Amino acid sequence: MMKKKKVIALVAHDNRKKDMIEWVSWNWKELAPHSLICTGTTGKLVEEKVNEICQENDIIPPDVLKLKSGPLGGDQQLGAMICEGKVDVLIFFWDPMQPQPHDVDVKALLRISTLYNIPTAINRSSADFLISSELFHQEYEPLLKDYSAYIKRDINI
Ligand code: PGA
Repeated sequence: MMKKKKVIALVAHDNRKKDMIEWVSWNWKELAPHSLICTGTTGKLVEEKVNEICQENDIIPPDVLKLKSGPLGGDQQLGAMICEGKVDVLIFFWDPMQPQPHDVDVKALLRISTLYNIPTAINRSSADFLISSELFHQEYEPLLKDYSAYIKRDINI
């Protein structure tokens, strides 16, 4: 069950970090009541920006949990947290124009967010739609497919 206070994961590839910081600056008021989890470098930049803006506005900044940098396993850490039900929303500005050293991890993260039915935005407009949804501010129960038959399937060995 997603509570009103959500855990929001923010990840941006290098060519998309400027977009992410602009988006965070634009949406800081919406983000401030929630907790943030980021891959390492995205987290450093996001934390600096939200701290600066929240200080200017005399508001307590959100927690920012920084995982490892994406290419060093941060995407996988995030995927594991999604499996464990510890992440509510994923905002993932991945780079459509450049291959990444950790492309397999990028695919895995997108797969796991789809599997666990986590609201996921992959560009600024989808992130805008997501954060301006009424559901963003409410409790919400994402429906999960029943995979129990898959776990119990017969394998002949
Ligand atoms: P970074 O990782 O935030 O440490 O740059 C993001 C990524 O490349 O997945």
